[in-house]
Amino acid sequence: MRIRYVISTMLFWWRENKLSFEQECDFLRSLGFGIELWPSIRGANECRYQRRNWTRLTEATQDMLVAMHSRSDGPTLDEWNEQIECARMLNANIVTELPSLCISEQFDIADWDFAEEVVKMAEQHNVKLCVETGNLKAAREVGRRFDSICYCFDTGAPNLDPAHSFKQYVDELIDRMVHLHLSDNYGRVDDHNPPGLRGGIPRGDWDYLLESLNRHNSDVIAAFEMFPCMPDVMIRQACDFLFDTMKWPNRPSSLPDTGRGGYNPL
Ligand SMILES: [Zn+2]
Repeated sequence: MRIRYVISTMLFWWRENKLSFEQECDFLRSLGFGIELWPSIRGANECRYQRRNWTRLTEATQDMLVAMHSRSDGPTLDEWNEQIECARMLNANIVTELPSLCISEQFDIADWDFAEEVVKMAEQHNVKLCVETGNLKAAREVGRRFDSICYCFDTGAPNLDPAHSFKQYVDELIDRMVHLHLSDNYGRVDDHNPPGLRGGIPRGDWDYLLESLNRHNSDVIAAFEMFPCMPDVMIRQACDFLFDTMKWPNRPSSLPDTGRGGYNPL
Protein backbone atom coordinates (compact mmCIF):
# COMPACT_ATOMS: atom_id res chain seq x y z
CA MET A 1 0.00 0.00 0.00
CA ARG A 2 1.12 3.50 -0.72
CA ILE A 3 -0.62 6.75 0.19
CA ARG A 4 0.69 10.04 -1.14
CA TYR A 5 -0.74 13.21 0.34
CA VAL A 6 -1.78 16.45 -1.29
CA ILE A 7 -3.63 19.53 -0.04
CA SER A 8 -6.62 20.85 -1.95
CA THR A 9 -6.44 24.49 -2.93
CA MET A 10 -9.99 24.70 -1.58
CA LEU A 11 -8.12 25.48 1.61
CA PHE A 12 -6.83 28.73 0.15
CA TRP A 13 -9.30 29.61 -2.54
CA TRP A 14 -12.63 29.33 -0.79
CA ARG A 15 -12.02 32.30 1.47
CA GLU A 16 -10.23 35.56 0.99
CA ASN A 17 -6.58 34.72 0.77
CA LYS A 18 -3.56 36.91 0.29
CA LEU A 19 -1.02 34.39 -0.98
CA SER A 20 -0.01 34.15 -4.59
CA PHE A 21 -0.27 30.74 -6.24
CA GLU A 22 3.53 30.48 -6.10
CA GLN A 23 3.51 31.16 -2.35
CA GLU A 24 0.81 28.54 -1.81
CA CYS A 25 2.89 25.97 -3.69
CA ASP A 26 6.07 26.91 -1.81
CA PHE A 27 4.24 26.61 1.49
CA LEU A 28 2.80 23.16 0.73
CA ARG A 29 6.07 21.94 -0.75
CA SER A 30 7.88 23.03 2.41
CA LEU A 31 5.48 20.85 4.44
CA GLY A 32 6.15 17.88 2.19
CA PHE A 33 2.73 17.88 0.51
CA GLY A 34 1.63 17.86 -3.08
CA ILE A 35 -1.27 19.97 -4.32
CA GLU A 36 -4.76 19.33 -5.64
CA LEU A 37 -5.76 22.21 -7.87
CA TRP A 38 -9.23 23.66 -8.17
CA PRO A 39 -10.04 25.19 -11.54
CA SER A 40 -10.64 28.65 -10.14
CA ILE A 41 -10.67 30.81 -7.07
CA ARG A 42 -14.13 30.91 -5.58
CA GLY A 43 -16.05 33.88 -6.88
CA ALA A 44 -13.69 34.32 -9.85
CA ASN A 45 -14.54 33.09 -13.31
CA GLU A 46 -11.10 32.61 -14.66
CA CYS A 47 -10.17 28.95 -15.09
CA ARG A 48 -6.56 28.29 -14.25
CA TYR A 49 -6.40 25.32 -16.60
CA GLN A 50 -6.59 27.61 -19.62
CA ARG A 51 -3.65 27.25 -21.92
CA ARG A 52 -2.28 30.71 -21.20
CA ASN A 53 -1.78 29.73 -17.52
CA TRP A 54 0.12 26.54 -18.25
CA THR A 55 3.61 27.95 -17.87
CA ARG A 56 2.73 29.40 -14.50
CA LEU A 57 1.14 26.13 -13.34
CA THR A 58 4.14 24.09 -14.45
CA GLU A 59 6.71 26.37 -12.90
CA ALA A 60 4.95 26.85 -9.58
CA THR A 61 4.30 23.12 -9.06
CA GLN A 62 7.74 21.92 -10.08
CA ASP A 63 8.78 18.79 -8.14
CA MET A 64 5.34 18.53 -6.57
CA LEU A 65 2.77 15.79 -6.89
CA VAL A 66 -0.20 17.43 -8.61
CA ALA A 67 -3.84 16.39 -8.88
CA MET A 68 -6.60 18.36 -10.55
CA HIS A 69 -10.23 18.88 -9.66
CA SER A 70 -12.21 19.18 -12.89
CA ARG A 71 -13.95 22.35 -13.92
CA SER A 72 -17.49 22.24 -12.62
CA ASP A 73 -18.97 25.03 -14.72
CA GLY A 74 -20.44 22.66 -17.29
CA PRO A 75 -17.26 22.21 -19.35
CA THR A 76 -17.67 21.68 -23.09
CA LEU A 77 -15.73 18.99 -24.95
CA ASP A 78 -13.17 21.62 -25.96
CA GLU A 79 -12.75 22.66 -22.36
CA TRP A 80 -12.43 19.04 -21.32
CA ASN A 81 -9.75 18.60 -23.94
CA GLU A 82 -7.88 21.61 -22.62
CA GLN A 83 -7.95 20.43 -19.01
CA ILE A 84 -7.00 16.88 -20.01
CA GLU A 85 -3.98 18.22 -21.91
CA CYS A 86 -3.16 20.34 -18.88
CA ALA A 87 -3.36 17.21 -16.69
CA ARG A 88 -1.05 15.31 -18.99
CA MET A 89 1.44 18.16 -18.79
CA LEU A 90 1.31 18.19 -14.98
CA ASN A 91 1.21 14.40 -14.77
CA ALA A 92 -2.00 14.76 -12.77
CA ASN A 93 -5.12 12.67 -12.28
CA ILE A 94 -8.40 14.49 -12.80
CA VAL A 95 -11.09 14.15 -10.15
CA THR A 96 -14.53 14.95 -11.50
CA GLU A 97 -18.03 15.19 -10.19
CA LEU A 98 -20.68 13.49 -12.31
CA PRO A 99 -22.48 16.60 -13.62
CA SER A 100 -19.26 17.72 -15.34
CA LEU A 101 -19.56 14.56 -17.45
CA CYS A 102 -23.19 15.45 -18.22
CA ILE A 103 -24.46 12.75 -15.92
CA SER A 104 -27.22 13.70 -13.62
CA GLU A 105 -27.85 11.54 -10.60
CA GLN A 106 -31.10 10.61 -12.36
CA PHE A 107 -29.87 8.24 -15.03
CA ASP A 108 -32.56 8.99 -17.51
CA ILE A 109 -31.05 12.38 -18.22
CA ALA A 110 -27.43 11.28 -18.51
CA ASP A 111 -25.70 12.14 -21.78
CA TRP A 112 -23.65 8.97 -22.10
CA ASP A 113 -22.26 10.00 -25.49
CA PHE A 114 -20.70 13.09 -23.95
CA ALA A 115 -19.25 11.06 -21.08
CA GLU A 116 -17.87 8.52 -23.53
CA GLU A 117 -16.11 11.25 -25.53
CA VAL A 118 -14.46 12.58 -22.40
CA VAL A 119 -13.43 9.11 -21.23
CA LYS A 120 -11.88 8.40 -24.63
CA MET A 121 -10.03 11.70 -24.59
CA ALA A 122 -8.57 10.93 -21.17
CA GLU A 123 -7.54 7.44 -22.30
CA GLN A 124 -5.80 8.84 -25.36
CA HIS A 125 -3.80 11.25 -23.23
CA ASN A 126 -3.08 8.68 -20.56
CA VAL A 127 -4.81 10.76 -17.89
CA LYS A 128 -6.61 8.95 -15.09
CA LEU A 129 -10.19 10.11 -14.67
CA CYS A 130 -11.57 9.63 -11.16
CA VAL A 131 -15.27 9.97 -10.50
CA GLU A 132 -15.99 11.41 -7.11
CA THR A 133 -18.66 10.26 -4.67
CA GLY A 134 -21.35 11.78 -4.19
CA ASN A 135 -23.92 9.36 -5.20
CA LEU A 136 -22.69 5.80 -4.82
CA LYS A 137 -25.16 4.22 -7.23
CA ALA A 138 -24.35 6.73 -9.98
CA ALA A 139 -20.60 6.36 -9.51
CA ARG A 140 -20.88 2.58 -9.81
CA GLU A 141 -22.93 2.88 -12.98
CA VAL A 142 -20.23 5.02 -14.59
CA GLY A 143 -17.61 2.47 -13.56
CA ARG A 144 -19.68 -0.34 -15.03
CA ARG A 145 -19.88 1.42 -18.40
CA PHE A 146 -16.27 2.56 -18.67
CA ASP A 147 -13.38 0.28 -17.73
CA SER A 148 -10.83 3.08 -17.44
CA ILE A 149 -12.82 5.07 -14.86
CA CYS A 150 -11.39 5.15 -11.34
CA TYR A 151 -12.95 6.40 -8.13
CA CYS A 152 -12.32 9.24 -5.75
CA PHE A 153 -13.87 8.41 -2.41
CA ASP A 154 -14.84 11.53 -0.51
CA THR A 155 -14.91 10.40 3.11
CA GLY A 156 -17.53 13.03 3.94
CA ALA A 157 -20.12 11.56 1.55
CA PRO A 158 -21.47 8.55 3.48
CA ASN A 159 -22.15 10.68 6.55
CA LEU A 160 -24.65 12.61 4.42
CA ASP A 161 -26.19 9.56 2.72
CA PRO A 162 -28.88 7.85 4.80
CA ALA A 163 -29.10 4.95 2.32
CA HIS A 164 -25.52 3.62 2.43
CA SER A 165 -22.98 3.14 5.20
CA PHE A 166 -19.33 4.17 5.13
CA LYS A 167 -18.36 0.50 4.84
CA GLN A 168 -20.62 0.01 1.85
CA TYR A 169 -18.92 2.92 0.09
CA VAL A 170 -15.50 1.48 0.82
CA ASP A 171 -16.46 -2.05 -0.24
CA GLU A 172 -18.09 -0.92 -3.47
CA LEU A 173 -15.29 1.41 -4.54
CA ILE A 174 -12.10 -0.13 -3.18
CA ASP A 175 -11.10 -2.05 -6.32
CA ARG A 176 -10.77 1.14 -8.33
CA MET A 177 -10.17 3.66 -5.57
CA VAL A 178 -7.13 5.70 -6.55
CA HIS A 179 -7.97 9.01 -4.93
CA LEU A 180 -9.34 10.10 -1.57
CA HIS A 181 -10.81 13.35 -0.41
CA LEU A 182 -10.25 13.55 3.31
CA SER A 183 -12.90 15.64 4.99
CA ASP A 184 -15.38 15.29 7.83
CA ASN A 185 -18.77 16.73 8.72
CA TYR A 186 -21.46 16.62 11.37
CA GLY A 187 -23.88 14.76 9.08
CA ARG A 188 -25.98 17.77 8.07
CA VAL A 189 -24.06 19.74 5.45
CA ASP A 190 -20.96 18.91 3.48
CA ASP A 191 -18.96 21.58 5.24
CA HIS A 192 -15.55 19.94 4.72
CA ASN A 193 -14.19 20.10 8.22
CA PRO A 194 -10.79 18.61 8.91
CA PRO A 195 -10.87 14.84 9.58
CA GLY A 196 -11.34 13.84 13.18
CA LEU A 197 -14.36 15.82 14.36
CA ARG A 198 -16.04 14.77 17.55
CA GLY A 199 -19.47 13.80 16.32
CA GLY A 200 -18.17 13.31 12.79
CA ILE A 201 -17.04 10.12 11.07
CA PRO A 202 -16.52 7.40 13.69
CA ARG A 203 -12.98 6.23 14.33
CA GLY A 204 -13.96 2.67 13.35
CA ASP A 205 -14.83 3.86 9.84
CA TRP A 206 -11.43 5.49 9.36
CA ASP A 207 -9.81 2.25 10.53
CA TYR A 208 -11.93 0.26 8.11
CA LEU A 209 -10.85 2.44 5.21
CA LEU A 210 -7.17 2.05 6.04
CA GLU A 211 -7.50 -1.72 6.54
CA SER A 212 -9.25 -2.04 3.19
CA LEU A 213 -6.58 -0.01 1.37
CA ASN A 214 -3.97 -2.19 3.02
CA ARG A 215 -5.73 -5.43 2.11
CA HIS A 216 -5.96 -4.35 -1.54
CA ASN A 217 -2.41 -3.08 -1.57
CA SER A 218 -3.83 0.15 -2.96
CA ASP A 219 -1.83 3.02 -4.36
CA VAL A 220 -3.79 6.19 -3.67
CA ILE A 221 -3.46 9.93 -3.53
CA ALA A 222 -5.15 11.35 -0.45
CA ALA A 223 -6.18 14.99 -0.65
CA PHE A 224 -6.98 16.96 2.45
CA GLU A 225 -10.09 18.71 1.19
CA MET A 226 -10.99 21.23 3.81
CA PHE A 227 -12.97 24.40 3.79
CA PRO A 228 -11.84 27.19 6.11
CA CYS A 229 -14.43 26.85 8.80
CA MET A 230 -17.08 29.36 9.79
CA PRO A 231 -16.96 31.22 13.11
CA ASP A 232 -19.71 29.06 14.61
CA VAL A 233 -17.79 25.91 13.77
CA MET A 234 -14.58 27.28 15.30
CA ILE A 235 -16.44 28.16 18.49
CA ARG A 236 -18.12 24.75 18.61
CA GLN A 237 -14.87 22.87 18.05
CA ALA A 238 -12.95 24.88 20.61
CA CYS A 239 -15.75 24.44 23.15
CA ASP A 240 -16.01 20.69 22.51
CA PHE A 241 -12.35 20.37 23.33
CA LEU A 242 -12.18 22.71 26.28
CA PHE A 243 -15.43 21.85 28.05
CA ASP A 244 -16.21 18.28 26.96
CA THR A 245 -12.77 16.75 26.60
CA MET A 246 -10.79 18.83 29.09
CA LYS A 247 -13.69 19.47 31.48
CA TRP A 248 -12.95 23.16 32.07
CA PRO A 249 -15.57 24.82 34.28
CA ASN A 250 -18.16 27.56 33.73
CA ARG A 251 -19.15 26.72 30.18
CA PRO A 252 -21.13 29.59 28.65
CA SER A 253 -24.70 28.54 27.95
CA SER A 254 -26.63 29.51 24.83
CA LEU A 255 -29.65 31.76 25.12
CA PRO A 256 -33.01 30.28 24.18
CA ASP A 257 -33.51 30.51 20.42
CA THR A 258 -35.30 33.77 19.72
CA GLY A 259 -34.82 33.71 15.97
CA ARG A 260 -32.37 36.57 16.34
CA GLY A 261 -28.71 35.95 16.99
CA GLY A 262 -27.10 33.01 15.24
CA TYR A 263 -24.21 33.64 12.92
CA ASN A 264 -25.49 35.22 9.76
CA PRO A 265 -22.91 36.66 7.42
CA LEU A 266 -25.47 37.87 4.86
ZN1 LIG B 1 -14.52 15.97 -2.50
